[in-house]
Amino acid sequence: HQGESVIAAPKPAGDGWQTGESPVWRPFTQHATEPPAPVATHAEGAFITTGDGRRILDGISSWWVVTHGHRYAPIMQAIRDQSERLDQVIFANFTHEPAERLARALVEMAPEGLTRVFYSDSGSTAVEVGLKMALGYWHNRGAARHRIVVMEHSYHGDTIGTMSVGERGVFNAAYNPVLFDVGTIPFPTGDGQTTLDAFEALAAAGDVAALIVEPLVLGAGGMLMYGPDVLAGLRQICDRHGVLLIADEVMTGWGRTGSLWACDHAQISPDILCTSKGLTGGSVPLAATLASEPVFQAHYSTDRSRTFFHSSSFTANPIACAAGLANVEVWRTEPVAARIRDVVRMQAGHLDRLARDPRFENPRQCGTITAIDMKVGQAGYLADAGPRLRAHCLAQGVLLRPLGNTVYVLPPYCVSSADLDLAYDAIATFQPE
Ligand code: PLP
Repeated sequence: HQGESVIAAPKPAGDGWQTGESPVWRPFTQHATEPPAPVATHAEGAFITTGDGRRILDGISSWWVVTHGHRYAPIMQAIRDQSERLDQVIFANFTHEPAERLARALVEMAPEGLTRVFYSDSGSTAVEVGLKMALGYWHNRGAARHRIVVMEHSYHGDTIGTMSVGERGVFNAAYNPVLFDVGTIPFPTGDGQTTLDAFEALAAAGDVAALIVEPLVLGAGGMLMYGPDVLAGLRQICDRHGVLLIADEVMTGWGRTGSLWACDHAQISPDILCTSKGLTGGSVPLAATLASEPVFQAHYSTDRSRTFFHSSSFTANPIACAAGLANVEVWRTEPVAARIRDVVRMQAGHLDRLARDPRFENPRQCGTITAIDMKVGQAGYLADAGPRLRAHCLAQGVLLRPLGNTVYVLPPYCVSSADLDLAYDAIATFQPE
């Protein structure tokens, strides 16, 4: 039977999957109500091309991952080159040049004091690893600190662990009974003193292992923004009470907020930093959790029970690490900061105009990210305004994905002024009903 396959030949294209008859179960998708997804066939720069030949502006950088643009040449080249040498190898037994060089580069680029790099493959796993490192740190030191403190409205991923440290709501109602307990501090408003006081009270109890935050921008929670002073204040309280600070820079890293890291705005270093998305320029999956020397040293011992017991099959995949290294080279050798400054300026102009539209409120910007809220229930807007705005924009050739009634634009850094016109014109021409 040699040559015979146990798997039936795939049905030819055109058997219905383009129109919705598909075994594929897509993420965050209600298949009963959402129209079939357009088929992406190509991408270049700020645009995605579909099977029917339409060019769609990627106004959300494909879930916030694409930084320099789709198929950025030096990153694609690095992926091709690496695939000629080493595709995958078990990282518990071997190391390799892309992982070693990328780790050194990350330590150099990261906020001071982060000296160790643990690889994984998604934002969620980077956060899981961060939480496990924090708990392991206290366990290995023999201290009874098991409590994690989180900020209201946060999002850190969709695994059981990362949902536990995220906002509880409709998205995780089914899992709520099994999520672990956390302490919660309010989202900062005004000068943030209420938030700082709440954290001080929790931290003073002496059982807090770590505080985890999305620095400056709470992404999936609605692009909610707070100032660097609050972040600096939280760091100080962590220091006073020996609490570890975990910065989830999965979304905010790699220039999104105008600096390489959001933590840079507050001039602070976390004890643990999680990065993914833009780590490979958004090309292939990779994540890293950076840790301070004390966190590493708590796991460094001739007593093998103190080992950091975590791995995933594809830890430090060489092709992904090569893509990460190429991304770092782009940051080193190209005027990325200047490009980001341009995007920040263009975004500010567009947001200004949209802010004058009485159908919107709460305009806000942090670096390359702008957000504004639709006045739901007023001026004719309905509660399903988000999905309908998304459909309207797609028909105009723009990919946007409102969070509830919050519209945000988070473009790749190669976006042009004319491209942004497309996005904001699409938003401004949305008619309720
Ligand atoms: N943390 C933050 C702040 C995020 O924004 C996300 C994803 O949007 C995650 C974690 C989870 O990342 P991933 O979807 O790669 O698991």
